[in-house]
Amino acid sequence: MKTSLVKLKSQLVSQSEKHCLESCSNSASEEEPPGKRSISDDPEEEPPSRHSLFEVLEEKPSGKTATTRYRFFGDIPDSVWNDWKWQFRNRITRIGQLAKFIPLSAEEIAQLKLVTMRYPLSVTPYYLSLINPDDPDDPIRKQAIPSVLEMTMGSLGVEDPLGEREDTVVPGLVHRYPDRVLMVLTDICPMFCRHCTRKREWRHGGWVRTPAEVEAMLDYIRQHKTVRDIILSGGDPLTLSTRHLEDVIRRLRQIKHIEIIRIGTRFPVVLPQRIDNELCTMLSKYGPIWLNTHFNHVREITPEAAEACDRLVRSGVPVNNQSVLLRGVNDSIEAQMALCHGLLRIKVRPYYLFQCDEVQGTEHLRTPVEVGVQIIEGMRGHTSGLAVPTFVIDLPNGGGKVPLQPNYILSQTEAELVLRNYEGRTFHYRNPAKPACPEPAAEVLCPTGSAAANSPQQAAAKLG
Ligand code: SF4
Repeated sequence: MKTSLVKLKSQLVSQSEKHCLESCSNSASEEEPPGKRSISDDPEEEPPSRHSLFEVLEEKPSGKTATTRYRFFGDIPDSVWNDWKWQFRNRITRIGQLAKFIPLSAEEIAQLKLVTMRYPLSVTPYYLSLINPDDPDDPIRKQAIPSVLEMTMGSLGVEDPLGEREDTVVPGLVHRYPDRVLMVLTDICPMFCRHCTRKREWRHGGWVRTPAEVEAMLDYIRQHKTVRDIILSGGDPLTLSTRHLEDVIRRLRQIKHIEIIRIGTRFPVVLPQRIDNELCTMLSKYGPIWLNTHFNHVREITPEAAEACDRLVRSGVPVNNQSVLLRGVNDSIEAQMALCHGLLRIKVRPYYLFQCDEVQGTEHLRTPVEVGVQIIEGMRGHTSGLAVPTFVIDLPNGGGKVPLQPNYILSQTEAELVLRNYEGRTFHYRNPAKPACPEPAAEVLCPTGSAAANSPQQAAAKLG
């Protein structure tokens, strides 16, 4: 799509991004990696610093073939390539850098520079190496490389579709459900996924919660004894040093009513080298810890990613996958089947398939809801149930997750259901009679609407 620069510029201004436009309009604007301001300079202790080594990369000969890694990064030895801090420091954050790897016209370069003023770019050399640079429709590319459509369709959607701001009880802590809270420890990610629900945070410069802020979050959790489940999120919490992360996890584990800790991270996909022995050894001390990650396409399941997941599983950390349904990336039965079979092969359970949230700047990647339902219908029965994720919509304004399934009930009476199976064949299924409710002791289990059990909550309360 050819959109004039003038039109794009006017859209930027009309969307009240004057501040960004001014602050980014100097020549160094794209040279600033997102989030540089509040990041520690100590590469050992906090998100690794971002001294650019790109000059080294730019001088490397290309065309070594085999994989895009060797084509672009052929002279980077394995010991450096597999150092996650090197990868992190050398993220591609400028369109000028990107154009050395991905063919972009002069017009595209100019357009994408404007797009990144609003929605910055960040992609690890590792993830970049998974992209086929010669295919503009490459499904890996669509997740990492900005598109002018983020701006031209930018009037659709909202900044905070899940209403997380309203449920924030202390800075960084989202408490929506009685028994679980979300701890947002940083807004820094190794990659900025173009479909991210928290895209609004990218412009805030990169921060890590201060010790005082973490203490305030822990205090709140200590005082709320109904909370049994903590989700460490971000940004990406594995951006923190292992020592820093351990400090938070250890203090959480000292709180008696905390049963499980979950970590939401895309590192196994975009920078699997982060999942090293040091991290896994640390995590293994504080179980049960569950890790939810975010593979969207089978080509992301590389030997490095497989090794990362294997290391986690062997450390006692189960790994689940939460993919997002994305137009042109994984919006077909074949793509989802390949992804989910690949996940099972590396011992990762396909958990959720999310309808892409209604986030500003992502409309071009969203699919009609019925696409997700059709995909589930095309998988259910055609492969093992373990390979079929639950398709969900995360409702706007904190409404929570709603699972969507194909409808297999053709008709229903008290006595019988007529069901269709995955092949379209029809089956009659006798419906067992509802129990009578003669005994007071049994009334709590009676589903006939007696005064004893008006709701599942009341029934559960009576059952203790
Ligand atoms: S890793 Fe997660 S939080 Fe970070 S940009 Fe990607 S989707 Fe968003």
